[in-house]
Amino acid sequence: MQLTPVKSRISQILRNHHEFGNELVDKTFQRMFYLSAIAVPVTAAHVVIFSMLSVETEAQQNWRLGIIIYHSVMCLLFSLMILLTRPGRPKTLAPTARRLICTVSHAALLIAGVAVTAIDQLVTPSVTPFLVACTVAGVLFIVNPLAAVSLYSALFLLYSIALSFTQSDHTILVSNLVNGLTACSIAAGLSWLLWQQNIEALQQRNVIQRQQQKLLQSNRQLERLATRDELTGLVNRRMLQMLATEEQALMKRQGSSACLLLLDLDYFKNINDAYGHPAGDQLLQQLAPLLTQSVRGSDRVARWGGEEFGVLLRNTEPAQGLQVAENIRELIQQHRFELTDQNGSVIEIRMTASVGLAPLDAAEADMLGEAYRRADIALYDAKAGGRNRVVGSAL
Ligand code: GH3
Ligand code: MG
Ligand code: MG
Repeated sequence: MQLTPVKSRISQILRNHHEFGNELVDKTFQRMFYLSAIAVPVTAAHVVIFSMLSVETEAQQNWRLGIIIYHSVMCLLFSLMILLTRPGRPKTLAPTARRLICTVSHAALLIAGVAVTAIDQLVTPSVTPFLVACTVAGVLFIVNPLAAVSLYSALFLLYSIALSFTQSDHTILVSNLVNGLTACSIAAGLSWLLWQQNIEALQQRNVIQRQQQKLLQSNRQLERLATRDELTGLVNRRMLQMLATEEQALMKRQGSSACLLLLDLDYFKNINDAYGHPAGDQLLQQLAPLLTQSVRGSDRVARWGGEEFGVLLRNTEPAQGLQVAENIRELIQQHRFELTDQNGSVIEIRMTASVGLAPLDAAEADMLGEAYRRADIALYDAKAGGRNRVVGSAL
């Protein structure tokens, strides 16, 4: 006989049990809480009803006493279960303690089923309590199929021994043993189904969670792509437009002023021609932090496109703006940019930039667009004037 499928099924069960064991215990706790809430009044009612029942023979008296003791113990056990499994409580218990409580409750319910059925044999051949205990346990406790098979096999053994003591009629005993075996098999089967369904639900939940995680990641990536320039990490022109709209509202409310700087590297094409585009990219990457560090944290630096950058200077009058632009221009002129060529040698590069400045006018509908138009003219003048200079535009 080929054992490999059985072995792989067993190891799969153990893997699943290891992965979801704690969550299954949590689910079992919830079920135990609700079952106990129903069982407490039911068992208490049994105690009251059997206490009032009048019996004649000694065997009947023993039976009644046994039933009263059984239901009293069960009523106490279920009350204890309510306390242990009430919502919120399980989290405060260690996982091992939770597992132990489940196992003990599971065993207690089944042993009680055996006990009351054995007691019942004193007056009746019925095995209903055992059937009920098996069914309730089978649909309530989520245990892995391997544990279920071992548990219900041991239970059947205990049931057979207990009944052989209290049921003297051989035919009834055999019939009850067969019924007991059926009950144990049904319980093990129900338990298997319950476990399988719960494992599948948890696996599906994990798949959904992983997909949501991926979706969240790609959303973040998309958001980044939509708002950031990939080469320099600066915000892009579209994002600067959004930031300018926010700024416009603030300027209107507070009556503050702001400026736009349009910065363009001088003769950048020559650098590309001399060292190649990737080298030019390296320089643009080095320029980005230089720009952000030369303005306040509240100002916004964007890559406008190509080797052009836009800087939104918040709360800045044109005169201050010209000073900031001049500082930036000087910083770029003095900065030693570096390139690594194909041989790995580092080449020092000097660059300059021309800057056009335009104040922002919050009253204009397309505030940034209009400022850009004026800053571009100023930039053109800076280029025409010999480059490496700042030109401001009047409103
Ligand atoms: P000037 O602005 O002083 O008039 O001269 P320029 O050479 O900088 O201006 P031009 O507009 O003629 O060329 C701009 C160059 O910028 C051309 C293009 O190859 C380069 N450029 C634009 N975007 C990128 C980029 O992302 N990476 C690199 N390496 N180069 C870029
Ligand atoms: Mg340009
Ligand atoms: Mg240029």
